[in-house]
Amino acid sequence: MSEKIYKNYMTKRILYDIMKEKNLQVNKMSEKIMKTVICPKCSEKSDAEIICSVNEKDMPDMKKSVLSDRFFKWKCPRCSFETQLFHPLLYNDIENGFMIYYIPQTKRRILADEKIEKEFADLDIKKRLVSNVSELKEKIALLDGHTDDMAMELAKHAVERIVEKTADMTVYEGYFLDMNKAENTVSFQFFVGAERHPYIQTTRLEVYRRSLDIVRQYFSETDKQDGFIRIDRDWAKEAFKIYKSK
Ligand SMILES: [Zn+2]
Repeated sequence: MSEKIYKNYMTKRILYDIMKEKNLQVNKMSEKIMKTVICPKCSEKSDAEIICSVNEKDMPDMKKSVLSDRFFKWKCPRCSFETQLFHPLLYNDIENGFMIYYIPQTKRRILADEKIEKEFADLDIKKRLVSNVSELKEKIALLDGHTDDMAMELAKHAVERIVEKTADMTVYEGYFLDMNKAENTVSFQFFVGAERHPYIQTTRLEVYRRSLDIVRQYFSETDKQDGFIRIDRDWAKEAFKIYKSK
């Protein structure tokens, strides 16, 4: 995995709000829709094909496309200005046991959908809700490799505190980068300081393994609730507090 897998996406992107959050319904989403996009540079209007839902038949091309930042790429047909066009996406990988719902900038912690709950009631599927593309890529990297994302969030939380102490820098966000079983290491990419510089920190795999024990002991019921849930930095902070109070 490249060291530059996660970027600061907040500059020069188009945020396409296909649906207002209050009207969100997973079952109403078509696989592809056409939408008019206005170029942020030359103001030209053009039609863009937006893929709202991807599933197995399109894998692994879609996976590669999301991880390499091609998926949300948009180019103006008039002035050739290139940017990212972010829009909601339901990423289904039932074979590997997970579904990820990406809703740009959502503040929700959970998103329930009756139709999906019914359809996959008998299957052991992890359902995750993410609010930015880095989180989406991180979840794909973890869950596709059958790595426990709750344990990895706890491990990241521990490593983040080490970075803040030893490097004396404020950490703003962080993502799982790589796990190397031969070297017995796990790496994270953080964004630190006022400039949000990328900062890589590698630690021993035991940090993840210990977190996995904690998840199995205290948070094994988390995935039994209905709906797409947020397993992120805030979840890890809360979970760590719960664990400490036991
Ligand atoms: Zn243009």
